[in-house]
Amino acid sequence: ASAALPPLDAGMNPAQREAVRYLDGPCLVLAGAGSGKTRVITQKIAYLLRDCGYSARNVAALTFTNKAAREMAERVGSVAPPNAIKGLTISTFHSLGVKMLREEAKQVGLKPQFSILAADDAMGIVQELVATTDKGLIRAVQTAISLWKNALVEPDQAERLATTESERDAARVYRSYNATLRSYQSVDFDDLIRLPARLLESDAEARERWQSRIRYLLVDEYQDTNACQYRLVQLLTGPRAMLTAVGDDDQAIYAWRGATIENLAKLTTDYPNLRVIKLEQNYRSMQRILAAANNVIGHNPKLFDKKLWSDLGVGDPIGVIPMDDEEAEAESVAMRISAARFELKADWRDFAILYRSNHQARIFEQALRNLKIPYMVSGGQSFFDKAEVRDIMAYLRLIANDEDDPAFIRAITTPKRGVGQSTLEVLGTYAGEREIPLFAAVFETGLEQRLQPRQLGPLREFCEFINRMQWRAGAAKGDAAPSGETASEILDDLVRAIQYERYLYDHFDERGAQNRWQTVLDLLGWLKRKAEEDKMSLMDLVQHIALITMLEKSDDEDPDLVRMSTLHASKGLEYPHVFLVGTEEGLLPHLGKDDEEGDPAKAAESLEARVQEERRLMYVGITRARRTLTVTWCKKRKRGREDIAREPSRFIKEMGLETDEVADATPGLSAKERLDRLKSLLKKG
Ligand code: ATP
Ligand code: MG
Repeated sequence: ASAALPPLDAGMNPAQREAVRYLDGPCLVLAGAGSGKTRVITQKIAYLLRDCGYSARNVAALTFTNKAAREMAERVGSVAPPNAIKGLTISTFHSLGVKMLREEAKQVGLKPQFSILAADDAMGIVQELVATTDKGLIRAVQTAISLWKNALVEPDQAERLATTESERDAARVYRSYNATLRSYQSVDFDDLIRLPARLLESDAEARERWQSRIRYLLVDEYQDTNACQYRLVQLLTGPRAMLTAVGDDDQAIYAWRGATIENLAKLTTDYPNLRVIKLEQNYRSMQRILAAANNVIGHNPKLFDKKLWSDLGVGDPIGVIPMDDEEAEAESVAMRISAARFELKADWRDFAILYRSNHQARIFEQALRNLKIPYMVSGGQSFFDKAEVRDIMAYLRLIANDEDDPAFIRAITTPKRGVGQSTLEVLGTYAGEREIPLFAAVFETGLEQRLQPRQLGPLREFCEFINRMQWRAGAAKGDAAPSGETASEILDDLVRAIQYERYLYDHFDERGAQNRWQTVLDLLGWLKRKAEEDKMSLMDLVQHIALITMLEKSDDEDPDLVRMSTLHASKGLEYPHVFLVGTEEGLLPHLGKDDEEGDPAKAAESLEARVQEERRLMYVGITRARRTLTVTWCKKRKRGREDIAREPSRFIKEMGLETDEVADATPGLSAKERLDRLKSLLKKG
């Protein structure tokens, strides 16, 4: 079979080849966008497996998103024989963390079926601990906790380092928050990396286990790792340091989540024998696009000296199009996509609309729908965030782990089943005093003194129901044997038993209920397929999903749809035709409120730092484009009933373009001719 595979060196330049073949120590590939860094990783995996005798289970590659992991797995699949890649780990940091925690649960004091909290469940816990309804305050505390975790700062340390009373308060909440998570047998998103790092730090045996397991580690998008991820990489690779990291300091866009570019520089000091390889040829973009990208990023101070050139030809001029308002913008972009697809005989999937913030998506979705253009939104509200999906998932989570208190609360109250708020409060207090999960408390005789039989009845009935489902799903503790039913049967029974469809029709109007019920059916269908394809038990599946829930919807195939994405979520990807929309001051750069209070010099410094991060985001956006790039901005936007005048983004000028230039990104007819033609076509169709 391997005879049919392409030769390994095909499609690689000498510098890439060097990076792929270098195995004498840690290696860092530092290079600009589209220079083939990710390709180096996929080729190196193939090299390790095909030529160096590495077994797949000893190789791991880490990416930033599930989508990137899937794409990489596909690419590796095309350069290495299928039987050689079995057991290979290509995943996000978070998925690797889950895997480690499942295997090492005992060592970190968790049971193997611990649950992974979604952001809003975590928020609920913070809310209770802070005892406020002030959403801003809750979010601020949650952010502080997250940043601490990602910086590997423990509660004690956080409290010691605090300089203000409110920081001290937040640090105290941090401590109770961790304790609450513990008692729920839950971990949050940040823990997925923090706990494995802590474990490897403190437990020499575990460290050796993982170091001998992962004998070669590759990390993509290295510039966006935070302290915690850096530490995990360091501990996993150990003194042998068989590591290849690739990254681009100009694409660091996650400082707000605690990522630090210094990790790139730190590598050079932590690994004195680090080999640094630069790539300079860009294989993605036409020269005009690349020049614009280089111009913009040239306004940032340089950390490393990098050059980037392309021989793909000059390409079409970049279109800069001022629009009257956001509706005109959305409509025009939709029209242009429709026309260009027709003329260039392109696919829908060749087009991407990229924007700074999620809230910009809605109006584009509507415009695309109006023209019947199929699209998908990534990096936005995902399927798994929908309330009805979360409701069903709460039941499944509870079945998988009955110590998952947030899931308990959600499931027992949705649909309502005669368990009132006051009953739940009594239950909560009782469980709190006894330091046991809510579920376990329901069966304690002690509770009988606090609740009337009519209050206790429905509670126990509910828990017995969950117990039966657990038994059927094979998650029962003790010696009860699993029933051997399929996941599909159990799922159908569950949804029928809780009368979820009726609940929807009782609470929403006809259409709302129908839509929601359809979503539930989609979820069930997807779960069943997944259980069958991946031969997963229902329990494994639930664990698996709890994780994707917080990342993104899984879209295994590459459907022919226009891609809509935030700039952040577009990192690492490429599209033939890119529309960069809402390129205005206030949106991109998006600077939030000015930090005027306090030290003005400091405020100016932090403002400058934010502009620089936004500029990197702009650089990421421009460099996603392969053939054409169109930049749009609105002269005014509605805020409430008012029209607010807008200014074009400073980045347009920095690209070396005029803000009112109306160039045409697509060859052939003029824009007006094309629109007219399209309109007449649409009328006929
Ligand atoms: P980013 O910084 O955006 O993540 P990158 O450096 O990871 O970009 P890749 O995605 O690996 O770049 O490569 C960009 C494009 O160039 C891809 O389509 C890839 O297949 C192609 N490519 C990479 N190296 C070569 C090469 N030597 N010859 C031809 N095409 C290449
Ligand atoms: Mg890449």
